Amino acid sequence: MRILLASLLAATAPLPALAQPAVSGSHDQLIATLRTDALNDEQAWRITEDLTTEVGQRLAGTEAEARARAWAVRRLSALGFANVRVDEFAMPVWQRGREAAELLGPYPQKFAVAALGNSASTPAGGVSGEVIAFADVDALRAAPAAQVRGKIVYIGHDMPRAQDGSGYGIFGAPRRQGPSIASQKGALAIVIRSIGTDREHRNPHTGVMNFTEGATPIPAGALSNPDADQLERIFARGQRPSLRLTLESQVTQGRSGNVIADVPGRDPRAAPVLVSCHLDSWDLGTGALDDAAGCGIVTAAAKRIMAAGTPARPIRVVWFGAEEVGLFGGLDYRARYGKQPHHAIMESDFGADRVWKVDSRLGKEREAEAKRLQRMLQPLGIVPGSLTETEGSDIGPMVADGLPGASLQQDGTRYFDIHHTPDDTLAMVDKKQMQQNVAAWTTALAVLAGPVQPQPTRPARRRPR
Ligand SMILES: [Zn+2]
Repeated sequence: MRILLASLLAATAPLPALAQPAVSGSHDQLIATLRTDALNDEQAWRITEDLTTEVGQRLAGTEAEARARAWAVRRLSALGFANVRVDEFAMPVWQRGREAAELLGPYPQKFAVAALGNSASTPAGGVSGEVIAFADVDALRAAPAAQVRGKIVYIGHDMPRAQDGSGYGIFGAPRRQGPSIASQKGALAIVIRSIGTDREHRNPHTGVMNFTEGATPIPAGALSNPDADQLERIFARGQRPSLRLTLESQVTQGRSGNVIADVPGRDPRAAPVLVSCHLDSWDLGTGALDDAAGCGIVTAAAKRIMAAGTPARPIRVVWFGAEEVGLFGGLDYRARYGKQPHHAIMESDFGADRVWKVDSRLGKEREAEAKRLQRMLQPLGIVPGSLTETEGSDIGPMVADGLPGASLQQDGTRYFDIHHTPDDTLAMVDKKQMQQNVAAWTTALAVLAGPVQPQPTRPARRRPR
């Protein structure tokens, strides 16, 4: 059916000119056309490939992220978006230096380690100490400080793969809370089992953490999961291992920024539909899944709407800066525009695997619109989800403020195998699934930005003979 429709559409393009905004029935047809065509999208892949190749890793606040912003402005302008601009802001910049984890005894060997964002720096020669192991954060919390003081804390966990990625919330605690608790108990340093679901790749997973008020920053790193297994096997042998940990880093002041571009609507005063992603990445891979792919997906979708005609409401595309290290871009956007009405806010920041569910929170009075969104997405195999919940990373604070929004939930089963590791490269992006994402986002935009009025067809120019 899908194939038949696609070939039919190829034969009938371009779209007919309409004098009036399309009525609902024919707009549904236009959406069906847009949805099917988007399954062959090349734009999202091109953006993802070009950004990860021509810029590479884009750590927030660094010169690399500034290059990414300049790249984004060029690309969004070249694609024909209006008002392409950058909102800049200042921020502290944490950067890793030399890293090593060496088991001194009882079985001397090297482990694969990466510092967590905002880790304190060790001195040049590293720090050495006995390792004390905890099964989880609660076990560390329950331990007397005398037991922890002067030692290197290790915390494990058992994060399973899950389609909705929900394990990250629960099992991320060793990274988010572990360092502060360890510091408050006088620990010398901390290494955690990487917050990741891969058990066979020797890749540490980095990620940000913040020391709570009153907790002195200590060196904090993540061991790859096979190395965490190795350390746990040593403990299981009744040994008391000691470790030399070198995690050098520095903090400077830098600038980041949000890159913003518009698709004008027929009513320029109408509240925009915001679609977003984040431009920054961690420094270990090239940030293909996290989150170049998200930028590719939402931008390709907005471009498809723009190519089809003029939507009723404006579409605002935002490539946020500095998400990974603390949602700086989302908070800057909220400070500038968060009080202005938005018709809906959305973000793609969970890789590029297929969208399987749509959640939204548009409000009781817009239930018909929310149900139409569900219905129009169903042909892509997307199941209807909640009508009272939505989420997003950079947009999270604005979601909490109560702005209306929708989320296209992606299959996150393998996301945390790769998340924040050197493996986050283009090789991990599945193009077919990415195209399904573009189809979902194009459909969502066509519904939420209101009827798309096709461009009047111009008479074809004759070639001079
Ligand atoms: Zn991300």
